[in-house]
Amino acid sequence: MSETANLLRLFRVDQQIRGLRSRLTAAERFLTEQTRQGEDLSSRHATSAAQLKQLKAAGANHEGECARIETRMAALREQMNGARTNKEYSAFLNELNALKTQKEASEKLQLEAMEKVEQLQKTLTEIEASLTERKTIIAKAKSDRDAKEAEIKDRLNELTSQRETVKKEVDAGHARQLEDLMNRLGEEAMSHVEEIDRRNHEWSCGSCRMAVPPQTLSLIARGVLVNCPSCGCFLYTELDVVSKKLPKPKKGETLEA
Ligand SMILES: [Zn+2]
Repeated sequence: MSETANLLRLFRVDQQIRGLRSRLTAAERFLTEQTRQGEDLSSRHATSAAQLKQLKAAGANHEGECARIETRMAALREQMNGARTNKEYSAFLNELNALKTQKEASEKLQLEAMEKVEQLQKTLTEIEASLTERKTIIAKAKSDRDAKEAEIKDRLNELTSQRETVKKEVDAGHARQLEDLMNRLGEEAMSHVEEIDRRNHEWSCGSCRMAVPPQTLSLIARGVLVNCPSCGCFLYTELDVVSKKLPKPKKGETLEA
């Protein structure tokens, strides 16, 4: 089997491995993204819960302040009833009016705090609902990922050991080049030469469609490993594909026999 045919076998095995892994990679990426969104929601929930606690405490403070002023006002009213002079009475009245203003301010603050508490509680409920929803999605994404992993495991092991065997037949430098090409060109790292017009010696690269000169074709025909002059992919011909499909000849047999 020629180097090109062996390299083609390696390419086909690698394609299958990459195809299998890409399904798992997609499932893993989805799980990671969902987990990240879940963590964002959890941290928003914690922040809002802490804010709510603070607001409730502030509201309770304002409420206490109102009650304290109220008690003081009631006491003042008692004192006013017992006032002995006009001067004394008007001093009590001034204090009472000042307390009234204070009380109104405290009541306003208390009301504002209550409104904020209500708003925040609504937000928290919304976050909790999103979090529950997200947790379901994450659990599903996790089981999908695990299922995919289990699904491809056996086939992946099989292909990996197949790859090891095939790789032994291939020059290490060529295997590295193929890997680079696969990273760069993906499915088009190896391509067959297409016959456009045999009589006029016209062939093209099946990957980039650019012309393959007759000298290049004759090199391929002599079993030399060749890159496409335009896109750089490894080129092969029908002959390489055919030789891959044929069983190895037994001792004493030839392919033509
Ligand atoms: Zn090309």
